[in-house]
Amino acid sequence: MTQAFCDAALRLPHVVAIDGPSASGKGTLARRLAADFGCTYVDSGAMYRTLAWWTLQSGLRCEKPMRPSEEDAIVRLMRRWDARLRVIDGAAWFTVAGYFPREEIRSDRVERAVPVVAQITRIRVWMVARQRDCAQFGPLVMEGRDIGTEVFPLAQVKFFLEADAAVREQRLAQRGNAGSAGSGRDAMDATRRKGALYPALDAIRIDNTHQTPDETYEIMRSHMGRLRVAGAWPA
Ligand code: C5P
Repeated sequence: MTQAFCDAALRLPHVVAIDGPSASGKGTLARRLAADFGCTYVDSGAMYRTLAWWTLQSGLRCEKPMRPSEEDAIVRLMRRWDARLRVIDGAAWFTVAGYFPREEIRSDRVERAVPVVAQITRIRVWMVARQRDCAQFGPLVMEGRDIGTEVFPLAQVKFFLEADAAVREQRLAQRGNAGSAGSGRDAMDATRRKGALYPALDAIRIDNTHQTPDETYEIMRSHMGRLRVAGAWPA
């Protein structure tokens, strides 16, 4: 093994990994942490949503139960879609043929289709590689379901956010997402073969059922401060 190869292998990107189920506060807190610590924000769920949207746009069926031939069709579509990673307003997103489907990926039909797409192992392998590609954008705050376990298992800091199911349902209802997401999607995310949702052994677990976003943020910020003092995060 050459010295150059060794050095390259050891030069790890700076990553804050934030995982947790829907409505655990990941999005808001990840965005805020990224802004305060000068990182690019990556919403890995948006990447899966973009593929789910493109699958539906292309007229493919995306529901359970799925036949092997239907899975194959989605994988073939993914292998030839023109998706590029672009940084827009400090966050990395996929554009498809130059278009950024910002609103479309939040629709109810995409919400229903996304866990189905995300269960396909070949799709996850491809997505994980693209998520690692985001390291080209400098230090990252990346949120998702498997960031600390699969995508960046050597991330300098990992948070796993949790809240009681009833409280998360309430938060989803306030956002107008009740029923379409929540427990059904979380159950699929927690039981798939690859990339299932679970906390990494070295994750800092924060149950924010009874916390305000500001209180949770302060806990996360103090962990980041300790990392800086220890020299594990750029000052
Ligand atoms: O984070 P968000 O709720 O937008 O994610 C949408 C869906 O994308 C999740 O329910 C899950 O099925 C999938 N996802 C995933 N792995 C990630 C992020 C999201 O499977 N790292």
